[in-house]
Amino acid sequence: MTTASEVPSGNTRGEKPVRNGNHPEEWSVADSAEIYGVQRWGNDYFNINAEGLLAARTLNVEVPLLDIVEGATERELGMPLLLRIENILDAQVLRLNEAFQAAIRDGGYKNVYRGVYPIKVNQQAQVVEEVAAFGARFQHGFEVGSKPEMIAALAMLEQPGSLIICNGYKDAEFIELGLYAGKLGFNCFFVLETPAELPVIIERSRALGIAPAIGVRIKMNTPVGGHWNKTGGDRGVFGLTTTQLIDVIDELKREDMLDCLQLLHCHLGSQIPNIRDIRSGIVEACRYYVDLCEEGARLTHIDLGGGLAVDYTGSKSSDDQSRNYSLEEYCADIVEALKSTLDSYEVAHPVIVTESGRATVAYSSVLLFNILDVNHFEPIPLPQSNNPEHPQLQQMRDILAYLKPDRLQECYNDAFFHRQEVRELFKRGQIDLRSCAVAENLYLDVLQRISAEVDKLDRVPAELENLKVSLADIYYGNFSLFQSLPDIWAIGQMFPIMPIHRLKEAPTREAVIADITCDCDGKIDRFIDVWEGSRQTLPLHSLREGEEYYLGVFLVGAYQETLGDLHNLFGDTNVVSVRMNKDGSFDLVKEIHGDTIADVLSYVEYQPREMQLRHRDLAERAVKEGRISARERQTIIRAFNASLNGYTYYEKEDS
Ligand SMILES: *Cc1c(COP(=O)(O)O)cnc(C)c1O
Repeated sequence: MTTASEVPSGNTRGEKPVRNGNHPEEWSVADSAEIYGVQRWGNDYFNINAEGLLAARTLNVEVPLLDIVEGATERELGMPLLLRIENILDAQVLRLNEAFQAAIRDGGYKNVYRGVYPIKVNQQAQVVEEVAAFGARFQHGFEVGSKPEMIAALAMLEQPGSLIICNGYKDAEFIELGLYAGKLGFNCFFVLETPAELPVIIERSRALGIAPAIGVRIKMNTPVGGHWNKTGGDRGVFGLTTTQLIDVIDELKREDMLDCLQLLHCHLGSQIPNIRDIRSGIVEACRYYVDLCEEGARLTHIDLGGGLAVDYTGSKSSDDQSRNYSLEEYCADIVEALKSTLDSYEVAHPVIVTESGRATVAYSSVLLFNILDVNHFEPIPLPQSNNPEHPQLQQMRDILAYLKPDRLQECYNDAFFHRQEVRELFKRGQIDLRSCAVAENLYLDVLQRISAEVDKLDRVPAELENLKVSLADIYYGNFSLFQSLPDIWAIGQMFPIMPIHRLKEAPTREAVIADITCDCDGKIDRFIDVWEGSRQTLPLHSLREGEEYYLGVFLVGAYQETLGDLHNLFGDTNVVSVRMNKDGSFDLVKEIHGDTIADVLSYVEYQPREMQLRHRDLAERAVKEGRISARERQTIIRAFNASLNGYTYYEKEDS
């Protein structure tokens, strides 16, 4: 019979290989690649090397992320760290442009592709600057939805002829900026979201003597699947209805400016998982295009908006967080649908514009953090009590004796019942705290043993299915979900998450991840599963004494950064942009230290300087009243000031 003072026998710490039939000692990096799905979601940008390290890679460059973590830490850019890999961003811009060029060539389409990057998807200067610099060779332009984004685009764009597509509600100032951009050599379009914008555009362009290039955004009726796309149709807030469109055309005719109408804009939605929706959207857009030409507009551009999806789960399906098409198919389908529809009406092929944001930037950012602590749901050794044991505890011990494969459910029920009884006795003061702890310990012991037996069964009893999840470890990560991964919390999005090292070893633990905010929503308990779509726990390695354990959250380049908030006053993380070199080295090309505590406090209107003075007064009073010495006062003030200027996240003593 086991006593509570013994650690359960069998596997050390109850560790087991995560997949049946795999023995930990036979684990290989290929097994890690499979359970974490690296090849499925990685888009060829990530690879596990022979040393078991996750490496970022593009064509002929490969750098382990652990090397970058170490390099950054040495430069006092500790965890959590947002890593931007410029080579990957460049590669995505290149792939997008080359895929359209190939589709245009192969499909016999008689015009060109011009991409624009929608700044709202990731407005960070490092990202926008890199898209502008690398994209210049393709005249890759920007889509802007506000004056600040317009200013950013104007300051970053290098290549004359690049497009600037102005969406959103535009006032006179916004329009002037756009008209001047045209003078500077950019191809700037004002896309009408509402008819009310037209008079302002006409007035400003007349006043400045610059002809505007105008686009119209149409309200699409094609229903589009996916999580992000509930805004189309009659009640959609963006775009012109057919009656408004007619109104705009007649107004332009009256003003003798119909020749300024040159672009048709339609944005079906973001993260469109099903290629068929994209095709039918294009056919609808072409009908508008053709009839606008009939009306006398000299259209030259068709802008299909965003929507190119990212396969977050790697399942290549029409699920919300996946896509059932490749980039090449996306381009080929667009080119083919445009060509065949327009040819049937004998209308000339326009320049194809897309506003891919998510697919352009998602892959290039990785959130890295270390694990601070783990909570195991396992019995722990407790000192033997001298008092006689309560009969309830004895009955719990007895369960261990009759725990057999055919009585698992019964044992589970018994353990649950007796623990409940003990909790009641405790409330009534009939059992002490130590006995209570022994009972909780016995309960976990029974559950762990049941779980080990369940693993051997072919069919799991329904009530025991969630047992594993309820026994999963909690790994505490040094990050804030609300600051760095807001979409996990807000819309239940899943991102690939995995350790970036020790991938030669079998992960022997099953875990959920908690962040360091003290909010019960600050946890990740839904993970991508290659076989089932999603799972409630993530296989991880057990921590080693004195060694950091690093996890990466991948494909976080789109929409996560500025949507994040200051929950619990955790601020921006450290950020580094790296460029990987052919010899496996890398350069930290840009670095930004995350918010200090003084920074985040000033965002919520505290005055750090004043706080320092007040704290000093407090310490001085303590000296006067004899509670501390003048020397102690200095130590206390120094600690306060150092904290104020420090990182908001958990910092190790030596760093
Ligand atoms: C958000 C947005 C985009 C970007 O869409 P993705 O799906 O991220 O590529 C493009 N165009 C418009 C008008 C948008 O509002």
